[in-house]
Amino acid sequence: MRQIAVLGATGSIGRSTLDVIARHPDRYQAAVLAAHRSVDEMEALCREHTPRYAVMSHPNAAEALGEKLRDIPTQVLSGADSLDELVTDPAVHSVVAGIVGFAGLRSALSAARAGKHILLANKEALVSAGGLFMETVRSGGATLLPVDSEHNAMHQCLPTMSDGRPDMTNVEKIILTASGGPFRGRSRAALDNVTPEEACAHPNWSMGQKISVDSATLANKGLELAEACWLFDRHPDQIEIVVHPQSIVHSMIRYRDGSVLAQLGQPDMRTPIAYCLAWPDRIDAGVAPLDIVAAGKLDFEAPDLAAFPCLALAQSAITRPGGMCAFSAANEVAVAAFLAGDIRFTDIDGVIASVLQSINLVEPDTLDAVQRLDADAREAAINCVTLMATPKTQS
Ligand code: NAD
Ligand code: MG
Repeated sequence: MRQIAVLGATGSIGRSTLDVIARHPDRYQAAVLAAHRSVDEMEALCREHTPRYAVMSHPNAAEALGEKLRDIPTQVLSGADSLDELVTDPAVHSVVAGIVGFAGLRSALSAARAGKHILLANKEALVSAGGLFMETVRSGGATLLPVDSEHNAMHQCLPTMSDGRPDMTNVEKIILTASGGPFRGRSRAALDNVTPEEACAHPNWSMGQKISVDSATLANKGLELAEACWLFDRHPDQIEIVVHPQSIVHSMIRYRDGSVLAQLGQPDMRTPIAYCLAWPDRIDAGVAPLDIVAAGKLDFEAPDLAAFPCLALAQSAITRPGGMCAFSAANEVAVAAFLAGDIRFTDIDGVIASVLQSINLVEPDTLDAVQRLDADAREAAINCVTLMATPKTQS
């Protein structure tokens, strides 16, 4: 029986993971659940899965949860130190890194240091601290398995070593697919007044708000470009980005002999999660079989960098030391401001561009340096958002 720690349990990835785990009570136990502050949602999950531990970020939330869970044996803790201790617990086999944003870095690093199986959904941690994270995975003897559907597809199309590392020997190119998001085909001018609700209505995937907005701006594909470079040891020019609106082909690998291998499947995160949980075995994910005839057409087109400049910004940032750490931090601030109604959708790239221009970029090779660069980029982004923000009384 493998004990699994599900970080970001109340989120989209966390819930999909718990759904797969619950289908296999003979193989997996959700031993640790962690979330930010949604006490009621966490209470329901704890009642359903009775983990050994539940961790809330804030002590007040943990206290409230503890009160509610008096009648079950789950122990409730709070804060990052507790989470660190639990993800390194020898009884825990796999850690699902499903916290959103830079906040997920510390626990993912702890799991890497402790040599766990890391099921990595949190791409921001890898994008901001790629060198440090990959080195920690190596030195800690961890097994790193990508949950992000595109990177999971790549992993599935590659030969792997016993520790999960992909063998890139005969690979010529990685073809990273993008859905194009809800605004595919629109001009830049037609994006000015889109609302957070429209931006979060992804045509194929049901996801958390932040990644949904990232998909709509194509910033997500920029983050995923960097994610693929770290996971598969590639230069950005060895990765081609292709828009595939049906989200059925999740990415492809082109080999030296001209063969192109693709992984296809329903746009349902339970497939990549089940793959990572069971790797190198396969288990039922609860996903409906793909009906390829019903799907009918598979289209591919080039991304529109003029309408969606976030991707072009990422392609340029990735060539500068620390560029993607700053990109990701600025993007997090800008997306939060857009979701709060403070800036327009088309201001998001402006915030990122301004941060990339104004701050002093250096390659962050220690955790301290990563945190400093992230904090500098956030501060610059907040200043930029403040200048852009329309006073709410006038809007
Ligand atoms: P979500 O917003 O639905 O859930 C986020 C989870 O993180 C919640 O459980 C929340 O409580 C927790 N959390 C938020 N801030 C936290 C903090 N400061 N400390 C501790 N916990 C915190 O997000 P999601 O869509 O599940 O995405 C999670 C991660 O997975 C993101 O990095 C995203 O890019 C990645 N990802 C998601 C999908 C998807 O389909 N949802 C696909 C690929 C990758
Ligand atoms: Mg993805």
